[in-house]
Amino acid sequence: MGDLLRPSMAVIGGGVTGLAAAAELAGSGRFDVTLYERNERVGGHCLGLQLDRLVCDRFYHVVLPGDTATINWIKELGLAANLVWSRAGSGFFGKGRLVPLETALDFLRFPFLSLPDKVRLALGILRVSRIRDPEDPASVSTEDWLNGHFGPRVTEKIWKPLLRSKWGDAAPRISAAFIWASIRRLRGARRGPAGRERLGALRPGIHALIEAAAGGLRESGAHIRVSCRVLGIERGDGGSVRVRTETDSNLHHAVLVTLAEPELRAILPAERIVSGRPTAYLGILAVVLALKKSLSPYYVINLLDEKLPFTGIIETTNVLPAADFSGRHLVYLPKYTTSGDPLNGRSDDDVAGLFLAGLTRVFPGFRESDIAAMRVVRAPFAQPLQAPGDPLPAADFHTAIPGVYAANTSMITRSLHNIDADIRLAREAARTIVRETAGRETVHA
Ligand SMILES: Cc1cc2nc3c(=O)[nH]c(=O)nc-3n(C[C@H](O)[C@H](O)[C@H](O)COP(=O)(O)OP(=O)(O)OC[C@H]3O[C@@H](n4cnc5c(N)ncnc54)[C@H](O)[C@@H]3O)c2cc1C
Repeated sequence: MGDLLRPSMAVIGGGVTGLAAAAELAGSGRFDVTLYERNERVGGHCLGLQLDRLVCDRFYHVVLPGDTATINWIKELGLAANLVWSRAGSGFFGKGRLVPLETALDFLRFPFLSLPDKVRLALGILRVSRIRDPEDPASVSTEDWLNGHFGPRVTEKIWKPLLRSKWGDAAPRISAAFIWASIRRLRGARRGPAGRERLGALRPGIHALIEAAAGGLRESGAHIRVSCRVLGIERGDGGSVRVRTETDSNLHHAVLVTLAEPELRAILPAERIVSGRPTAYLGILAVVLALKKSLSPYYVINLLDEKLPFTGIIETTNVLPAADFSGRHLVYLPKYTTSGDPLNGRSDDDVAGLFLAGLTRVFPGFRESDIAAMRVVRAPFAQPLQAPGDPLPAADFHTAIPGVYAANTSMITRSLHNIDADIRLAREAARTIVRETAGRETVHA
């Protein structure tokens, strides 16, 4: 009797989605799994970042109490003790004022809305967070949906400035389904409409999850090929699939691609892709600062001032101990960009100069001498754009090439884009593949 040769399975992309899918496939014991990652390290948006002598996350990441798939994976990987919870909360900046929005009293004192408008906002949030069917917000224009739930005054004074400062030129293209998903996700971290948020953070950063996941994958016998960019995927001989990289070409029984939709389309022939999913993505750039002193007690400062060049001010050392970073305070100034945004063409120095000038408007006491280290980071496919009013596509993992599957952020349309949704999607895709490839083991003489 010969050995049972396990089908060879390729996973393309070493971000959270690829790692979670590869772990599920390898864990089934049914496949010989190879993960392909173009960078020197796996991680994607969850990569670590060298900031002078510190290592922090490239992009800020928190875990919410409802992120059960993430929390359970953190536990399974032996990192439970690294998950810390805090009530760092949020502030709002507008009309030259920085105010807290953490407690019910803060909500009553909130200066940017009248009392009747606050009641309208609170009732709107309660009503929206009870909507179960995302087709409802997806089917109407964002403005009509906001006006319907919050009234025109709250929409003008809060939602429109928030959307414009967060999404810039892309604000009119943000669907109501996305706002619905954001409200539901954040409500899950709060008690009451203005109750304090409970935020989790992994010490020393979400990159610890990536490193543990990659270690677990290697232990299970899977192969991780880094610095290995996939250039194309084609049908091979005898029902196999050929994965062509910059250096070689390999046959697999099946392939799961976890790249963002535009990256997926770059490696699969166009006619091979199931249509209906959003192909437009927002990019992101962020100035990452290690500061000698803290700016505020808030994890996030939301901006109602549309003239500021960034989207928000995120101080992650309000959820992570600054002691983990030699006492430095980590601040991220992010900005989502459309592909035509002139910021994309500007140098890191230009971006840093512009953003630091904006930071001084919020914190007039801030000085460049407060900066211990600084980097500018960029990612082209941070956030898929589901067009307002378009029906939400169903997550279909198939492509038109038999044996080639896809699972990526463009399929997450019924919740906010986050690691928890990625893990669930990745596992569902992996289970589909396990089901559909049953019985494909071959006997090796
Ligand atoms: C600014 C920011 C803040 C965020 N904050 C949070 C948060 O607080 N909480 C939360 O839960 N989530 C957060 N997220 C979301 C989370 O980071 C993403 O949902 C997640 O990282 C997406 O993982 P992915 O594997 O789908 O994609 P990616 O991370 O994009 O991974 C794709 C991988 O594929 C690789 N690749 C691309 N092309 C090729 C190729 N041709 N060949 C081989 N490899 C290739 C890339 O190098 C990359 O490693 C945040 C995201 C951003 C951008």
